Amino acid sequence: MLITDPVLVSGWGRNFSSLSKRASIATIEQLQEVVAQAGDSRGLLPVGLHRSYGDSALNSGGVLIDLSALNGIDIDPVAHTAIVGAGVTIRELERAALLRSLFPPVVPGTGFVTMGGAVAADIHGKSHHKTGSFSQCVNWIKILLSSGEIVQLFPSDEEFWATVGGLGLTGIILELELNLRQVSSNSADVKEIRVKDLSAMIELLGRSDKDYEHTVAWIDLSGDYRGRGIVSLGNYGSEPVKIRGGGSSGPSLPSIGGANFITPLTVKAFNELWFRKPLKHGTVVLNKYMHPLDGVNNWNRIYGDSGFLQYQFVIDEGREEIFEKLFAGLRSLKAASFLGVLKKFGQETPAPLSFPRPGWTLTLDYPTTVPGLERFLQGFDEELVAARGRIYLIKDARVSHSLVPLMYPEIEKWRTIRSTMDPTGLWQSDQARRLHLC
Ligand SMILES: Cc1cc2nc3c(=O)[nH]c(=O)nc-3n(C[C@H](O)[C@H](O)[C@H](O)COP(=O)(O)OP(=O)(O)OC[C@H]3O[C@@H](n4cnc5c(N)ncnc54)[C@H](O)[C@@H]3O)c2cc1C
Repeated sequence: MLITDPVLVSGWGRNFSSLSKRASIATIEQLQEVVAQAGDSRGLLPVGLHRSYGDSALNSGGVLIDLSALNGIDIDPVAHTAIVGAGVTIRELERAALLRSLFPPVVPGTGFVTMGGAVAADIHGKSHHKTGSFSQCVNWIKILLSSGEIVQLFPSDEEFWATVGGLGLTGIILELELNLRQVSSNSADVKEIRVKDLSAMIELLGRSDKDYEHTVAWIDLSGDYRGRGIVSLGNYGSEPVKIRGGGSSGPSLPSIGGANFITPLTVKAFNELWFRKPLKHGTVVLNKYMHPLDGVNNWNRIYGDSGFLQYQFVIDEGREEIFEKLFAGLRSLKAASFLGVLKKFGQETPAPLSFPRPGWTLTLDYPTTVPGLERFLQGFDEELVAARGRIYLIKDARVSHSLVPLMYPEIEKWRTIRSTMDPTGLWQSDQARRLHLC
């Protein structure tokens, strides 16, 4: 087992960093040893690949537990299930499953997410309207509690749902079993359609949910923000496609003097090109369709040293007027988002801290350096709460702690269950301290 000296760690948004030790464990026995010896008041936090954007996977002054050694994948091709270690990535699982004509039913926009991180955030994908979130394909979870005991949790247990979306604060997920779905090839059949404004986008997304397994829209939030964009509709394909270059990950983006390349001008130029690009219509490689941003490693560096924030929220159907308010405010700040994504969610789960619930979810990226952005978003957070909306905590680095119980009204129930699972308060994170979660 290796425990490092304190190292500087940041989330994917690179908007702040914190110093913590890092323990890499090779076996469950070593993990139990770290837990038994943890006397540090800043506690322990299990982590994956740090693809969370803010401070969910940071624990300044404490110890981060790297679980990448828990990398077993055991697929039952008859039952269509997989038992996977917490350190297995979505990308690794997809590859192993595709060899048996199977695929995970819920995958996020990047394949670089671990099973532990997927449960702890209860991630969603483009299929949410059909499949729900990640936890809805999980049959059981094995978790190490702060007492050192290992327990198996099922969806009939309240501790299961406290761990789903529980941000690593109930214990260390070691292993889980999930259901896979059958696919007939490694492809997706995709259709992209240009839309001229937000209402056309909403109408098309809403109408397409019944016919398409995957629906999502890229929304152009540059210039005068009419909300034009491209709606992407997909189903699992039947024609196998040849993968060139072995499907390895793409080039890395160097950090060029720490400068931010995302300005209103560059975003406007890029978005104009993207809006006019030839539309996809036909068969594409499944993994590339699922994880379009994985073609370039470290793309988060384009925002420079000060980083960026990703703002994602969900709002009920019928409350779409809030988008216009948001766009008007962002227009007045001349804030242009490089990445704007709109998606319709389906059913929620019983997990008190799980983000998805029926309605529209919008995701926006902004450099942290936009003048007035933080103040504007603070005001918008309150409007969101008044409209019964909420933000996705795994992407957050800034929301006020006083709004969290209003966004997640079942947090008290979660706190009660959590305190029985971790009476000594061993599991800690910068986010938990900032948002007074525990
Ligand atoms: C390009 C990109 C696209 C994305 N697209 C989506 C998307 O489409 N949908 C979506 O929902 N999310 C999306 N995300 C967010 C991402 O799925 C989540 O942040 C996820 O939690 C990251 O997993 P990770 O393995 O990197 O975990 P980390 O970021 O390292 O940790 C995240 C949380 O999980 C906890 N955790 C990690 N491992 C364990 C464990 N073994 N036991 C208990 N807790 C654990 C940590 O304590 C922390 O609270 C995206 C992120 C990026 C960078």
